[in-house]
Amino acid sequence: MFKVNPYFSQLQPSYLFAEIARRVRQYEATHPDGAEIISLGIGDVTLTLTPSVTGAMHQATDEMGCADSVRGYCPDGGYTFLTEAIAAHDYQSRNISIHADEVFVSDGAKSDLGNIGDLLSADNRVAVCDPVYPVYIDSNVMGGRAGRWDGTHYANLIYLPCTPENGFAPQLPTEHADIIYLCSPNNPTGTALTYSQLKQWVDYARSEESLIIFDSAYMAYIRQDDIPHSIYEIEGAREVAIEVRSFSKTAGFTGLRCGYTVVPRALTCRAEGGPVSLHSLWSRRQSTKFNGAGYIAQRAALATYTPQGIQETLDSIDYYMSNAAMMRRRLCEAGFTCYGGENAPYLWLRTPDGQSSWSCFDRLLNECRVVVTPGSGFGPNGEGFIRLTAFQKREKIQTAMERIRQLM
Ligand code: PLP
Repeated sequence: MFKVNPYFSQLQPSYLFAEIARRVRQYEATHPDGAEIISLGIGDVTLTLTPSVTGAMHQATDEMGCADSVRGYCPDGGYTFLTEAIAAHDYQSRNISIHADEVFVSDGAKSDLGNIGDLLSADNRVAVCDPVYPVYIDSNVMGGRAGRWDGTHYANLIYLPCTPENGFAPQLPTEHADIIYLCSPNNPTGTALTYSQLKQWVDYARSEESLIIFDSAYMAYIRQDDIPHSIYEIEGAREVAIEVRSFSKTAGFTGLRCGYTVVPRALTCRAEGGPVSLHSLWSRRQSTKFNGAGYIAQRAALATYTPQGIQETLDSIDYYMSNAAMMRRRLCEAGFTCYGGENAPYLWLRTPDGQSSWSCFDRLLNECRVVVTPGSGFGPNGEGFIRLTAFQKREKIQTAMERIRQLM
C-alpha cells in the first residue's frame, strides 16, 4: 500500500481563522438585526489594484491574444524585464549589490517560504519567533524538521520569544540554530528590527554557519529611517541570507499573485564533496517544480516600478498607514497598550485586565461587533494579545474605533 508523508500527521489543525469564522457566524445567527460587523482581523488588502497595474494587465492581455506577441512558458527565474527592474529599484537604488540573476520571480511569498524547505535537510535545527506567521512552522513540520507536538510546542524547533520586554525583537538563542526565520516588519506584532538588531543575527549566522530566511513582505510599510528594508543592507548578509518578498501587500497583488526571492550567488553551504551553492539548488528546484508566474502578473508587477506606479503604490500604503496611525491613537486613548502600526499595517494590543486573547475577542465581537485576531493563534507568547489590521476601509475603521471607545 502507498504511504503518505508521515509528518503531515504532526500538523496541528489550522484552527484560528476557522474558529473566528465559527464564532462570528454563531453571533450573527443569534443577533440578526444588529449593526454591521466590522472585521479588523483580515490580513488582506481592500483597495483596488492601481490604474498603472490594471493598464499594464490590459495591454499584456492584448499581447497574449495576438499571434506576434503571445508568450508561452516564462524563462526560469522570471522575465528579465522584471528581475532587472527589481534589482535596480529595490536593491541597487539603495546601494545594495544584488544582480538580476539572483532574483527569482514567483507567484508569491507563501509559495517560496514553503518551498525553500525542499533544499534543506531534515536534521537542521530551525528557529522561529513566537508569536509567528504560521507558515514557517507548518512547512517545517511537513519537512520533518519540527519533531513531536507536545501540546504547546514542537520538540525540535527553537522558539524565540518576542515580548514587550525585548521590544518584540528575537534574542539570539543559547543553542545552535541552523535555520532562522525572521520577519520584519513583523506579522503579527507589527514591529520592525533595527539595523543593530538585524546585524546581531547576520553576525550570528556568519559565526554559526546558519541560514537566515528573511521575510520582508511588509517592507513597503517602513516609515522610520533606522529600519532596514532589506537584510542585504547589513554587511555580510549576502553569504548567509535569503530574502523573500511579495507584491501582495506592497501593491495589492493578493488576488493577482506575484512575488520574488533573492538567493545571492555568494550563499553557500558546506557539504561533503565541497561547498554547495544555494542559488544553484533553488534554480534547479524551481525549474523542476515551477513554471513561473504568469506573463500578465509579471507585466503588472513591472508597472509598479514606473513613476506613476511608484506614486500610486505610495498612495495606497499611505492610506493604510494613516489608518494604522489613527487606530493607534484612538486605541491608546481608549486605554489599550498598543504596539506596532508604525512601520507595519498591524497593531498588536495587550488585552485589558489580563483577559485571555479569546475572551477579549468575544468581548469585542459581542459588545462592539468588531472582529480581531486572537494573538494566541500565533503562538504561546501571543496569549494576552490581539492583532488588528489597518487594511480595512477608513470609514469602517472609524466606526469600529468609536464603538471600542464607548466600550472602554
Ligand atoms: N509573509 C508574511 C509575513 C505574510 O503575512 C504573508 C501574507 O499574509 C505572506 C508572507 C504571503 O504573501 P503572499 O501573498 O505573497 O503569498
